[in-house]
Amino acid sequence: MYAFDYKKVSSIAEATQHLNSDTRLLAGGQTLLAAMKLRLSSPSELIDLQNIPNLAGIKKEGGNYIIGAMTRHAEVASHAELRKDIPGLSYLASHIGDKQVRRMGTIGGSVANNDPSACYPSAVLALNATIITDQREIVADDYFQGVFTTALNANEIIKAIRFPIPQNSAYAKFVQPASRYAMVGVYVAKHNSGVRVAITGSINGVYRHSGLEAALNKEYSSEAVKAIAIDADNFSSDLHATAAYKAAIVIVQTKQAVIDSMA
Ligand SMILES: Cc1cc2nc3c(=O)[nH]c(=O)nc-3n(C[C@H](O)[C@H](O)[C@H](O)COP(=O)(O)OP(=O)(O)OC[C@H]3O[C@@H](n4cnc5c(N)ncnc54)[C@H](O)[C@@H]3O)c2cc1C
Repeated sequence: MYAFDYKKVSSIAEATQHLNSDTRLLAGGQTLLAAMKLRLSSPSELIDLQNIPNLAGIKKEGGNYIIGAMTRHAEVASHAELRKDIPGLSYLASHIGDKQVRRMGTIGGSVANNDPSACYPSAVLALNATIITDQREIVADDYFQGVFTTALNANEIIKAIRFPIPQNSAYAKFVQPASRYAMVGVYVAKHNSGVRVAITGSINGVYRHSGLEAALNKEYSSEAVKAIAIDADNFSSDLHATAAYKAAIVIVQTKQAVIDSMA
C-alpha cells in the first residue's frame, strides 16, 4: 500500500467538497481496498462515508423500500419486514461472499461498482429500482451501462435505492466456486406491470432478457422458459466454465428463480 490521506466526513456536502478526480469515496472497502492493494486504483484521499447520518438503514414507504447506500448486506439479509415483502432481495444479500464481506460490504458500494459478476445489480434491474443520488434519481434501466460502468457522474454520490415491492420475486445464483460471486445469477420479478428478468455474470454487464420476459408474461411457470435461446456470446469461457455452459445455466437458474418466487 502507498501513502494516501483519509477523511471521515459527516455530511454529503462535506464529502462533495473533497471529491475530485484524485479522491475516492470509501463505503465498506470490500472492493476499493483490494483494488488499492493491487495498485489498480491509487487515490490521493479516501472519503469515508460511514459517519454520515441516515445514509444507512431500511425503511418502508408505501409500496416501496428505501435502502440507504451505506446499508450493509447483513442488514438487508436479516431485516424481518423486508424479508417478508421482498424475500428474493434478502436471500440475495444473505448469499453474498462470506460473513466478513456481508458485515462490511454495502449496497451503495456494490451498485456504484457494478461488477459484472455482482448480485445486487440484477436485483436493482429486475425489481425496477431507482438510484437516488445527491443530484437526481436514475431508473435502473438507465443506470447500468456496461462492465464497471454506470450513469453516475464522477462527483455523484448514491444516497439510497428505492425498490418497489413486487408481487413476487426470487434470485437464483450459480456460484463461482473460488470467489463466491455469481458465475451466473438470475433475478426474476413479477410486477403488476409485467415480469422483469435480469442476468448477471455476462461479459457485457448485467442485462434484461426480453425473450425470458415475454415467455414469463405469457405463462408464469418454470416450464415456460425451457425453450428460450440464450446467446452464449454474452458470456466468456474461463477455467470454470465455457460460455455455452454459462448460457445453459441461465435457463436452469431462471427456472429455479420462478419456482422459488412462488414458494
Ligand atoms: C471475497 C469477496 C466476495 C464477494 N462476493 C460477492 C458476491 O457473491 N456477490 C456480490 O454481489 N458481491 C460480492 N462481493 C462484493 C461485495 O458485495 C461489496 O459490496 C462490493 O465489493 C462493494 O464493496 P463496498 O460496499 O465495501 O464498497 P467500496 O469497496 O468501499 O467501494 C466500491 C466502489 O464504490 C464507490 N462507492 C462506494 N459507495 C458509494 C456511494 N454511496 N456513492 C457513489 N460511489 C460509491 C467507491 O468509491 C468505490 O469505487 C464480494 C467481495 C469480496 C471481497
